[in-house]
Amino acid sequence: MLAVMLIIALLCGAVCRSLFEAKGRSGGSGFMLGFLLGPLGVLIAAVLSTDARELESSELRNGVRKRCPDCAESVLKEARKCKHCGFVLDGPGARESPNVGTTKDSRAGASKRKAHVQRMFRP
Ligand SMILES: [Zn+2]
Repeated sequence: MLAVMLIIALLCGAVCRSLFEAKGRSGGSGFMLGFLLGPLGVLIAAVLSTDARELESSELRNGVRKRCPDCAESVLKEARKCKHCGFVLDGPGARESPNVGTTKDSRAGASKRKAHVQRMFRP
């Protein structure tokens, strides 16, 4: 009987820990809550609100997010453009701005047209 209770307590602790970590809270205190209160602890962990600031800082530490160098807001690591200020962030493909391609293309088109015009007016 005691073994079953211990297993339930450990299970509830593990569930609470993952719930707490998903909400940006300390996993250790989540485990203690589940371990000591059992299913009631799981219920408390489930209804507990997300600690947004702590979640953000833990995501910054884990490398899920990075800081925008322009406005210092946190954005996703994969983001190429800051959602807060529109700053174009460094990253894969950041150098290849779509504007560069179009100017190059239009310049190539212009020189092609110029050559065509020169050919037409050549005696
Ligand atoms: Zn920004």
